[in-house]
Amino acid sequence: MALAEPDADQFSEIDFSGFSRVPLCHSPTPIEPMSRLSEHLGGPNLYIKRDDCTGLASGGNKTRKLEFLVGEALAENADMLVTQGAVQSNHVRQTSAAACRFGLKCHAVLERRVPGRDQLYESNGNVFLDSLFGATFEFHAAGPDMNAVAAAAADRLRKDGHRPYFIPGGGSNATGALGYASCAQEIAGQSAGAGLDFQWLVTATGSAGTQAGLVAGLTAVGCDIPVMGISVRQPREPQVSSVRKLAGLTLAKLQGPAIPASKILVDDGYVGEGYGIPAASTIEAITLAARMEGILLDPVYSGKGMAGLIGLVRQNFFKASDNVLFLHTGGMSALFAYAPQIVEALS
Ligand SMILES: *Cc1c(COP(=O)(O)O)cnc(C)c1O
Repeated sequence: MALAEPDADQFSEIDFSGFSRVPLCHSPTPIEPMSRLSEHLGGPNLYIKRDDCTGLASGGNKTRKLEFLVGEALAENADMLVTQGAVQSNHVRQTSAAACRFGLKCHAVLERRVPGRDQLYESNGNVFLDSLFGATFEFHAAGPDMNAVAAAAADRLRKDGHRPYFIPGGGSNATGALGYASCAQEIAGQSAGAGLDFQWLVTATGSAGTQAGLVAGLTAVGCDIPVMGISVRQPREPQVSSVRKLAGLTLAKLQGPAIPASKILVDDGYVGEGYGIPAASTIEAITLAARMEGILLDPVYSGKGMAGLIGLVRQNFFKASDNVLFLHTGGMSALFAYAPQIVEALS
C-alpha cells in the first residue's frame, strides 16, 4: 500500500525529540493485505504490519524498543548492555545485535523457563545467534524475578569495571515502550495516507511493552483503533494489569492523558500449556500463515498471536466488513529450535 507521512489534520504528532534514540529500524515497515488467509477463513479483511521486517538481525518488535533503550545507554556512557530473557529470547538476540552495532558488549541471563527442552533448544535458533554476535550469557533455573537476577549480574559486572546499562526482560519499561508509541504513530499515518481505516489491531502480548506502547501512542495521537492483545504467557487479569501500568507510565513520559481501563483488551484463550509451549492452535496458525501468505511466524509469540486472530475470526468477533490489522512481532529465529516438534505435528 502507499505510504504517507502522518496526516497532521487528522492525528496529532508525538514529539520524540526529548528522548535519546539511535536509528535501528527500517521504517515504516509495510502494511500488506493477507488476501488468501482472509478468503480461506471467510472472515473480515485481514492485513499484516510487517514488524518482522524491522531490519535488525532477522527483525522483530524489540528493534523499535532498542532504538530508545540503546539511545539512553549511550547517553549514560555505558559500554555494555545487560538483559535477561527465556533461553530462546528474541529480545536477547536483538539486544546482542544492537550492542554490536554500537561497539558495546552484551551480557544476558537466560532463564530455563520452558520445561523439558533438549540440547538443540539451548544451542540453536536465537542462542546460536547470540553466540554469533559475541554476547556472553549464563543459563539460570526458572525463577520468579529474573529482572532482579539480571540486575544483580549488572552490579557484579560494574564491580568488575564495566559500565553496564540494564535492560529489563523484553525491553519492557517506559523507555522501550516508546518504540511502540512510535509504531502507533506510524500505523495511524499509514492508515490515513492510504485512506484505509482499521477497526481492530491484534498482537501477541508478553512482557507488555508492545501493547502498552501501542495503546499509549494511539491515545497520544488521538487514534481510536482498539488493540487486542493475545496473551502468550499468563491469564487475562495479570496481563491487563501489567499492560495498563506500563501504558500509564509511557503516556506519562509523553505527557499524554490517562488511559481508561476499558482500553486494555487481552484474550488469554491461546496460551495453551504455558509460555514457550506451542499449542495445537499455534502450530495450525504457523502452518496457515506459511501456506496461505508465505509468512513465517514463531512458536512462542507471533504463532499464538495469529492463533488468536484466527480464533477471533472463527468466533465471529469481527464484522465481515472490518479491516483488521495483525502486528507481526517477528520471532522466526526461534522456529529452528522447535523444528523437530513442528515437523512431528505436521506429519
Ligand atoms: C517479545 C516478543 C513479543 C511480545 O512483546 P512484548 O512487548 O514482550 O509484549 C511478541 N512477539 C515476539 C516475536 C517477541 O519476541
